[in-house]
Amino acid sequence: MTTKKAVLLTGKAKRVSTTDDPELLWVEYLDQATALNGKRKEAIAGKGKLNLQISALLFAELKAAGIPTHFVSAPDDDSMIVKRAQMLPLEVVLRNYASGHFETKFHVEHMRPFTPAIHEYYFKSDALDDPFINNDQILALGITDADTLATVRHLTDRVNELLTARFAGIGITLVDFKLEFGTLADGSLVLADELSPDNFRLVDKDTGASLDKDVFRKHEGDLQPVYAEVLRRLQASK
Ligand code: 5GP
Repeated sequence: MTTKKAVLLTGKAKRVSTTDDPELLWVEYLDQATALNGKRKEAIAGKGKLNLQISALLFAELKAAGIPTHFVSAPDDDSMIVKRAQMLPLEVVLRNYASGHFETKFHVEHMRPFTPAIHEYYFKSDALDDPFINNDQILALGITDADTLATVRHLTDRVNELLTARFAGIGITLVDFKLEFGTLADGSLVLADELSPDNFRLVDKDTGASLDKDVFRKHEGDLQPVYAEVLRRLQASK
């Protein structure tokens, strides 16, 4: 059995520790919600457990469908054991419909559909406030190479197909989402980070209600029952 050792780093909503196995890390999901790149921060009871359970369920399903991931297991209610990966400093955003920053940036109508879906990249840097970055800029800065970027794009499209169908099956539209990738010690690329309503935009197909972090971002009410509803639907349809 893997045991937790020293804390490596504490992020906005997760704490990462080493384990007795040098290839594995222990990730705890915290009861914390942030917005505006961490400038607004609130404690939300139960959020860590919900995000962990949703992430673990989706990682396991994507893994079973052939997506390489860092996920190993969920040893308790709010922790995940993952393979240690060198993270690409990129936020990969995929948009199926206009919402959020795309809508405000280009003044297009809310929920305009995009076929094919739009891929965007943001350079992860707190000092620079995570700026938008295009493919040429990624290569020029040596953030990664063209082959890896092509694999990121292919895996993101595949994750989109799988998750769009999965959420459609429980009455939810997958509007957009953010993924992060990393490379394992053997050089292989894996889907990493988290798969939860913190980084997906989800809308109820019947009511149009937000079932994600927009509830917190837009001060629309309690986040906990909304995330619990997403988990309930996912578990009921396994
Ligand atoms: P937007 O660019 O419209 O704000 O976000 C697009 C999608 O990416 C949304 O589903 C949003 O949750 C996700 N996303 C974008 N930036 C971040 C981020 O810094 N953290 C998290 N958790 N999700 C993000």
